[in-house]
Amino acid sequence: MEEEEGEEYLFKVVIIGDSAVGKSNLLSRYARNEFNPNSKATIGVEFQTQSMEINGKEVKAQIWDTAGQERFRAVTSAYYRGAVGALIVYDISRRTTFDNVTRWLEELKTHSDTTVSRILVGNKCDLVDIRDVSVEEGKALAEAEGLFFMETSALDSTNVKAAFEIVIREIYNNVS
Ligand code: GDP
Ligand code: MG
Repeated sequence: MEEEEGEEYLFKVVIIGDSAVGKSNLLSRYARNEFNPNSKATIGVEFQTQSMEINGKEVKAQIWDTAGQERFRAVTSAYYRGAVGALIVYDISRRTTFDNVTRWLEELKTHSDTTVSRILVGNKCDLVDIRDVSVEEGKALAEAEGLFFMETSALDSTNVKAAFEIVIREIYNNVS
């Protein structure tokens, strides 16, 4: 990769949403192409840095994952500090996680002092037989809140890359 003109882009992106919706697996799928069927709360890994190319420039995203604090509603302001992008994740097979999206959006708003590019992510779209939230409901909420929207599966990789990259691209567009 060429380093030219000294232009560097590094964006902080946070992943939020209820416990067990698949946040850590979305990140491991995107950053390392890995999936863990029985993942425990990640300890020690605060973030992963992932690069993509936009208009011939290398753009890096520092993507933060919770270490399970969301179970105790104790995601700290340090987690949100400086974030310019966010994935708000729910599980399409568990309606409560969708109902809680509004709270996560409020929490994000409370902690951010800048424009944050946001995407609503309905994860586990491979679980067609036990779907509990329709695509239309996801879309409608996203539209009402002014968010991008995508259904993903960290298990079979559907739209995972696309979901992260839509946010990173939008951040880039906002600053360039
Ligand atoms: P987190 O608490 O939000 O970080 O969720 P995890 O990434 O730890 O995932 C919670 C559970 O859901 C784990 O057992 C994962 O294997 C499972 N999981 C995560 N993503 C998917 C997915 O896209 N499809 C299915 N079927 N299971 C998933
Ligand atoms: Mg996790």
